[in-house]
Amino acid sequence: MQIVETVAEVREQVKVWRAEGLTVGLVPTMGYLHEGHKSLIDRAVAENDRVVVSVFVNPMQFGPSEDLESYPRDMDRDAALCEKAGASLIFHPDPSEMYHEDFSSFVDMNTLTGGLCGKTRPIHFRGVCTVVAKLFNIVTPDRAYFGQKDAQQLAVIRHMVSDLSFGIEIVGCPIIREEDGLAKSSRNTYLSEQERQAALVLSRSLALGKQALEAGEKDAAKVRSVILDNLEKEPLAKVDYVEVVDWNTLEPVSQVEDSVLVAIAVYIGKTRLIDNFIWERSTK
Ligand code: AMP
Repeated sequence: MQIVETVAEVREQVKVWRAEGLTVGLVPTMGYLHEGHKSLIDRAVAENDRVVVSVFVNPMQFGPSEDLESYPRDMDRDAALCEKAGASLIFHPDPSEMYHEDFSSFVDMNTLTGGLCGKTRPIHFRGVCTVVAKLFNIVTPDRAYFGQKDAQQLAVIRHMVSDLSFGIEIVGCPIIREEDGLAKSSRNTYLSEQERQAALVLSRSLALGKQALEAGEKDAAKVRSVILDNLEKEPLAKVDYVEVVDWNTLEPVSQVEDSVLVAIAVYIGKTRLIDNFIWERSTK
């Protein structure tokens, strides 16, 4: 497995693979890899001849008061995980390689990005779309892998690929959880022991919302309040949002009819955690 830091090196390697008629999968990450990332890499390895994992903490998707500086990094551990999983190449650029001094072009989306995480993180998806578009242009993969953990991001990337005709298959992968239900996240390392325990309130509250839907509840406001009421019982939790939205448009629904995304963002202490589930018509 190679680790390269420049766009030119990625391009050179992909050119060689293409000349051999090989398919290429891409797994974009910010590093500090865990089982969630590994599930994406495993799937990519199973479905493509060669797999590129990008490890890049993208400054453009962090707001001024967010955790860009403190975001955890461990390249040696990431490299070992990627190699073991069967990736062929890690692209680990410096921010200056991705954004030259005179960088001034952005991918901005008018729909899908205003609600949910876009409300508290107004510049986030512009940063995500711009970096992912760049990665797509650099790697030119056949398929790219994204986790449902970041459900809004998955929907936004699918939309961008359609809008801008990237011709890349976007593969959504299920949320990988700790044994006790907490969705795996690089940011879980910020949690103290007490906060780690309190963080279970996210998956448990969502489970109550799911139960209500399974029992036939169709009123989105009621589903929201079941979740919200349980979240508010946890003293260390401060709710950012609880939303029931159409899975295609990400617009809030009042009645649960078609596929919906039930998504939450909650601060546990200073750490902002997200979790969700998708409720499909076929699962009703
Ligand atoms: P990140 O490094 O947090 O930017 O995540 C890189 C990719 O891994 C994104 O597509 C995430 O949705 C995905 N991912 C992160 N955590 C999980 C998880 N617990 N389960 C599945 N995918 C995940």
